[in-house]
Amino acid sequence: MLRKLDEVVERLKKAKKVLIMGHIKPDGDDISSVATLALMLRKTGKEAEGCIADNIPWFYKEIPGVSVIKNVDDLANYEYDTSITVDASEISRIGDSVKLLKNGKPDITLDHHKTNVGFGEYDFYDSNYAATAVIVYEIGKMLGIEYTPELAEINLLGIATDTGFFKYSNTDRKVFQYASELVGAGANIQHIASAVLEHKTLNEIKLQSEMINTLKVEENGKLAWAYISYDMFKRNNCTDEDAGGFVSDIRALYGVEVAILFIEWPENQVNISFRSKNYVDVSEIALAFGGGGHERASGCSCKGEKLEEMMEKVIAKTKEILKKY
Ligand code: MN
Ligand code: MN
Repeated sequence: MLRKLDEVVERLKKAKKVLIMGHIKPDGDDISSVATLALMLRKTGKEAEGCIADNIPWFYKEIPGVSVIKNVDDLANYEYDTSITVDASEISRIGDSVKLLKNGKPDITLDHHKTNVGFGEYDFYDSNYAATAVIVYEIGKMLGIEYTPELAEINLLGIATDTGFFKYSNTDRKVFQYASELVGAGANIQHIASAVLEHKTLNEIKLQSEMINTLKVEENGKLAWAYISYDMFKRNNCTDEDAGGFVSDIRALYGVEVAILFIEWPENQVNISFRSKNYVDVSEIALAFGGGGHERASGCSCKGEKLEEMMEKVIAKTKEILKKY
């Protein structure tokens, strides 16, 4: 049930032992929100553990605080009284963490996805927030948390990554204000940027060049799309994690409004990322294929589907949606 943020904080104050769960295929906002909340709640004298039921890409581990996050098996016997999900728009997004839930429903959910369905007891979701890490920062303020440089940096990670390092349309005044406060508390933005943006391997660049060979531009230059097949990953010794920022490179083409990247990983599963530049709501396209997300960034995952067939269906749907604008 949707509540006000201060109601959620009142509920949180009653907790003694907290379990915080992020989403699968974790991004910077997810990792940041899980770790920041866990470290923050520990500072208030509570017990708190953070869980992500998936691999955390190695380069995030350069940020202090990420190491606090555990996996599902580590926490199988953790006795908590309050469960929280962060940055997840629906329950399936937390993956195997769902096994840790006592009645299949989290006590608190915190999220900023437009497609959020509200699946907890105390839900707070609002797509006006640039990142879940922004919500977490406001909770920290309401709890009167004193920020150490480490806590400030892990909190800033989520705000920086979900705003594309302060350049997406969600980069509002609040983002700059909170980022400024976090830098004031000792967060090092250069350290975050270097860890997240400057870790490419030669194999990744080779994979990227293969992707660029598949690039197609249609609809008078408004639609650009590309794919990476499972074979291409194997050939370059890469995994789907290595293709993280590629879809933004497609959007960077002049005149492109919608960018789509199809990723076949593993065989017969197709993960699709959508990005738009100025006006198309790509969460609508993702939703049509069982996914979700934001107006300018969304995604979906289709199991048991052939890459070629998915590309055909999704491109047709996208062209249909583009006609509305
Ligand atoms: Mn996320
Ligand atoms: Mn987010």
